[in-house]
This record gives sequence, C-alpha cells and structure tokens, in this order.
Amino acid sequence: MQYDGHDSHAHDGCEIAPQQINCTKHGPHDFAIVCMHICRAIRGGSSVGFFWSTDTDGPRPDAWCRSCELWNRQHPGAPLKEWMQVANFQLLCVHCWDEAKTILYDRFHETAEPPAD
Ligand SMILES: [Zn+2]
Ligand SMILES: [Zn+2]
Repeated sequence: MQYDGHDSHAHDGCEIAPQQINCTKHGPHDFAIVCMHICRAIRGGSSVGFFWSTDTDGPRPDAWCRSCELWNRQHPGAPLKEWMQVANFQLLCVHCWDEAKTILYDRFHETAEPPAD
C-alpha cells in the first residue's frame, strides 16, 4: 500500500517569507504588532485609542491602546516583559494596522483628550 500524493513537501513554489503573515482579510503581507485591545477594537469598534513607537525597523511601528499607554506611564520602572503581558501583543498585517490606525486614532481624537502630564 502506497500513498504517492502524501503532502510532505515544504516547498511548493509558494513560499512565504518568515516576515509575513497570511491575513484572513488581505492575504500574505508584512506584519506589525499591536496590543490585543487594539486587535479586539478593530472588530468590536470600541474607542481604545492608538499609540505607536517612533523607532522601528519594521514595516510599521509597534502599536498599543490608551490603557496600555497609561499602564506604561504609571509603571515607568516595570520590566518590558511585564508590559508585554499587559499588552499581550498580537500580529497584524500592515493593511489591518493601517485600518486600525485610521479607525482608532481618528476616533480617539474625536472622543477623548490625551492624558495631561
Ligand atoms: Zn492595549
Ligand atoms: Zn490584514
């Protein structure tokens, strides 16, 4: 008994670079990371805000929501690892990232003021 068509080929001519994800909406694209609250807000539509880091070597900077930003401000000495757990960063394709920024950044400015220092 032999199965010739067994799917054991890793390379089928459609290889995706490790820097890409296969977005269910946009297909394979470069990705950036955003906190899970932004991920949820894209679908749920809640106004969670949108912050991003200014230094990046990726296609898009890392982004996070207002509550993650506030947590970060309130815990200036906290290890990065702890903040990563709060933010629970997820991968997002660059098009979803752009959409998230349009939706959440614009909406944030319509409905809320940034926290005063
Ligand atoms: Zn967040
Ligand atoms: Zn996408």
